[in-house]
Amino acid sequence: MCGGDGVSGIRNEMERFSGIGVSPGIVVGRVFVLDDKARRIPRRSVAPKDIDHQLVRLNEAFTLSVEELERVRDQAEQDMGREAAQIFGFHIGMLRDKVLRGSIEKVINDEVVTAEYAVDRVFGEWADRFRSMEDSAFTTKVNDITDLASRVLTHLVGSHGHELSEFEYDAIVVARELTPSQTVGFDRSKVVAIATDLGGKTSHTAIVARALGIPAVVGLSRLWGKLSDGDTVILDGSRGIVIVEPDYDTIEHYLSEEVERGNYQMTLRELASLEPVTTDGTKIEVLGNIEFAEETKQVLEYGGEGVGLFRTEFLYLAGEREPTEEEHYNAYRSCVEQLAGRPLTIRTMDLGADKYTQAQSLNPERNPALGLRSIRYCLKNLPMFKHQLRAILRASAHGPVKLMLPLVTSVSEVRQSRHIINDVMEDLQDEGHLFDRDLSIGIMVEVPSAALVASTLAREVDFFSIGTNDLVQYTLAVDRTNEQVADLFAPSHPAVLKLVRDVVRAGRHRDVPVSCCGEAAGDPDMAVLLMGLGVRTLSVTPGVAPGIKRLIRSISIDRCERLAKKAISFDSDTEVSMYVRDRLRKELPEAYDSFGQFRGDKPGR
Ligand code: PEP
Ligand code: MG
Repeated sequence: MCGGDGVSGIRNEMERFSGIGVSPGIVVGRVFVLDDKARRIPRRSVAPKDIDHQLVRLNEAFTLSVEELERVRDQAEQDMGREAAQIFGFHIGMLRDKVLRGSIEKVINDEVVTAEYAVDRVFGEWADRFRSMEDSAFTTKVNDITDLASRVLTHLVGSHGHELSEFEYDAIVVARELTPSQTVGFDRSKVVAIATDLGGKTSHTAIVARALGIPAVVGLSRLWGKLSDGDTVILDGSRGIVIVEPDYDTIEHYLSEEVERGNYQMTLRELASLEPVTTDGTKIEVLGNIEFAEETKQVLEYGGEGVGLFRTEFLYLAGEREPTEEEHYNAYRSCVEQLAGRPLTIRTMDLGADKYTQAQSLNPERNPALGLRSIRYCLKNLPMFKHQLRAILRASAHGPVKLMLPLVTSVSEVRQSRHIINDVMEDLQDEGHLFDRDLSIGIMVEVPSAALVASTLAREVDFFSIGTNDLVQYTLAVDRTNEQVADLFAPSHPAVLKLVRDVVRAGRHRDVPVSCCGEAAGDPDMAVLLMGLGVRTLSVTPGVAPGIKRLIRSISIDRCERLAKKAISFDSDTEVSMYVRDRLRKELPEAYDSFGQFRGDKPGR
């Protein structure tokens, strides 16, 4: 199990943490605590008998560091003079400081933890103290302290911390926060679940976890600092619960529930091949959302009738550099071929806000959600945009492809984009490439301004796809990644419902099809409202498609319309949610479990 000196779990009390369930499924397993700093020093307990050993390790690390610093100081004095060498004198002085050393020893003794954890903690606290001082003479010392900590830690754990790959067990990764690229970079064969203290339901980490079929809970607020590697937990990604050191009965209970859900999922899978038609004969198209070309297989397995959203930005996040035209093309072509004639909507790169490339993160924006992101970024980085457009167009020679622009806020962005697409078409033609000259060009409607001028935009585009994740974020001024306002993130808010209604009306007026590809499309209560408001295409996380099909087949469009009409007349999202929840649970009792939770929510694994 865990590497390291004399490590063993000493916690034995069951404790329950609540967060936001973002990817369903129940897992019982051992945790791997991911540090949120560059160096990974997890909090690890040791057996009480090993405390002395930890103190000896600490002493050795300090002695070696002082010896090393003395050599560095002497060399610096020779090369750069006395004054320049003084800094190392300060470092040596700190390591000889009894207060600092005493604080580290106290953490080891009191908390029964490894020397490296205690060093990292105490140095971190000292750095925070210096950082908070008004006098800049102190704040500049923060880097010295970080440097010094790093030197001591190198003698304790080597130049790198423990890596996930060193662990022999399948891990439930616990982190304060994960970036989408970290999530994408996990060895998928080793990570069985994810739990983070930060993040909201539609954060991209959550979306990626769902796409990978890894159960996940975010917004746990204070779990991360409480766990050590190897602790046993139950993670319930449907209810958003993590239970630490569960007792035998609790484990049994959750495991049997997981079996029940698995069996139910088998039933749902049988539904995958059925037509999603309402009881009064309205056909609803159910498509899948994907982040990677390989997920196309999953979409088909779960009965998706095509791909309604390919989030291509993950091609940029997976590597260190921008993907080449050929890399784009291979991904899109593979998707088109797997879909064998079914539709594929490729969204152009939607980077920014919580999805950053290495290059972007070097220039942090003050307010990235409102910054240079998505279509704005593409229109300012034309060579990059054109690489992607060329690849999408070339892929369109192999099957039905639609091109979708993200985060459109005005008609001029559409016109500019169309202009660039025409240029790219001309280039491709001159070069002899095949492509679909009539390919549909549509937009995400995910910003209130676009929804409000939908009737104007409808003259310029071939389709609309409502992105409720961002539409809710921007309409309600609620950061979709911030767990502290997660309870305010309400797709059922009447303001959002009214925007959806108006977009559908504007689309119908001009014969522009309207779909929804935000997470709301895969939420049963919201799916009913969307259908009631006139949306006829739902693009969802592949695993939830069978459940949504089942729902469609058990309700009439007339019922959906009446529910939506009533819902939109309420004053608040709470009233809407309560009303829809209550009606659906009464009318379709078999679709909900004893917790009142929709039963078609567990991705097969
Ligand atoms: C949305 O905003 O609803 C959407 C589907 O796009 P993303 O989640 O990728 O921002
Ligand atoms: Mg969006």
